[in-house]
Amino acid sequence: MKEKRIGILGAMPEEINGVVSLLKDKKEIVKGMRTYYTGTINNIEVVVVFSRWGKVASATTVTHLIIEFGITEVVFTGVAGAISQDLNIGDIVIANSLVQHDLDARPIMKRFEIPLLGITELFSPKEILDSTIEKIDELVGNGSLIDLLSSKQRELFSLTSQKVVVGQVASGDQFFSSNIEKENLLAILPDVLCVEMEGAAVAQVCFEYDIPYVIIRTISDVANENSVVDFNEFVSQVASKFGFEIIQKLIKW
Ligand code: SAH
Repeated sequence: MKEKRIGILGAMPEEINGVVSLLKDKKEIVKGMRTYYTGTINNIEVVVVFSRWGKVASATTVTHLIIEFGITEVVFTGVAGAISQDLNIGDIVIANSLVQHDLDARPIMKRFEIPLLGITELFSPKEILDSTIEKIDELVGNGSLIDLLSSKQRELFSLTSQKVVVGQVASGDQFFSSNIEKENLLAILPDVLCVEMEGAAVAQVCFEYDIPYVIIRTISDVANENSVVDFNEFVSQVASKFGFEIIQKLIKW
């Protein structure tokens, strides 16, 4: 059996920087405008990289991880805009299903159908999904993420409690910043929890190469007219702390 080597992709450089500082025997390889950091954490081999933003960028990065670095599984963390009314800023979404909301080759294919794969959504493999849910539930359940924030930060984001939700995530090359965009998405994908720009692309590549993957997203904004302000504040103040803790927790398996 192939030695385990985890590919860790972050959609925010801030999240990745913290993880890079944990690497033993760290090496840096620059290729295709990305910096790949190899090393070990808790004696597990990892390769850490900032995915850059959007479907093409993230698909390219994960492909490179698979081909050049021989990674055997993928963990992706980042932030996302909430679509479901039940989600608040700071909640964590773990994707069990991923859809490319901007993929539409009708009338030659069904809406969202991935050409040649003949499917409209991708499901994260059960084993990696279940173990991730268990670990993140524990992390959030004992309050260790919220405890990282000052009372001022908690107040700013109305972050008094935090939950983990498992469900569908939609990805596309679009930043959602209005209620109209949200309504339009819900009209075509009523079960979507949150929206982002990379997850389903990474999932497609992993599916095609048969690599287990899990996509974890912290809600940074509620994808409405205030999303740019919330997003920027959240990313600079909170996302990097959460992303770092999440990855650290997941590596300890
Ligand atoms: N910080 C960058 C932009 C990042 S793009 C800049 O200012 O130039 C936005 C990132 O956040 C992507 O990784 C995307 O997956 C995620 N995201 C967070 N909220 C989102 C929203 N409302 N709509 C789409 N993507 C969102």
